[in-house]
Amino acid sequence: MFRIYLASSNRHKAEEIGEFLGPVARILIYPAYRPPLETGRDFRENALIKARSLSRLIPAELVLGEDSGLVVPYLGGAPGIKSHRFSPSGEDLDNIEKLLEALKGARGKERRAYFVSYGVLARAERVLWEGEGRVEGLIAEEPGGEGGFGYDPVFFYPPAGRTFAQLSRQEKNRVSHRGRMLSLLKEFLLNWEGKL
Ligand code: IMP
Repeated sequence: MFRIYLASSNRHKAEEIGEFLGPVARILIYPAYRPPLETGRDFRENALIKARSLSRLIPAELVLGEDSGLVVPYLGGAPGIKSHRFSPSGEDLDNIEKLLEALKGARGKERRAYFVSYGVLARAERVLWEGEGRVEGLIAEEPGGEGGFGYDPVFFYPPAGRTFAQLSRQEKNRVSHRGRMLSLLKEFLLNWEGKL
């Protein structure tokens, strides 16, 4: 089993990723790690910045940098890499309110959106694997559901006929951007094991 340190101080995220990678890898948080400023121009650059900064601290360990967000083409790609701080407070409810306001009057395809999750696996500041997961949906007119986090209550996923906040964690993981990125990582780890 691999041991991978997540370049994040978010225990909730670490638990979710750990649950997904199951018996293949154990996901840990490095307590002394302080997330760097996300100064990248896109999700990939921010994931690289996160992975490299933790790798510098613990070069002998495998580290995972992950950056994610919501992209709405009709809004020129916003909230994008600024998803967590779209509104001044950065609170989920305020971010959602700002998004619904920006899309007021937008109809049909104009409400199309996708989530992106970019992952970078590194060791000794060297990138060993990188990959991206995406999921497409529509921004609902109003929030629905209690589960998930962030923009989940307004992310309507047509194949399920529900918002991400109305799916169970397992249902969401199966189709989500992070779930898709992590299944690519899992595949890499399973094939890579013999070469360690
Ligand atoms: P990160 O921790 O820098 O990757 O922040 C990503 C931000 O994008 C989060 O704070 C959320 O606002 C949003 N986001 C990313 N993934 C999801 C998701 O699965 N559901 C809802 N919002 C998400």
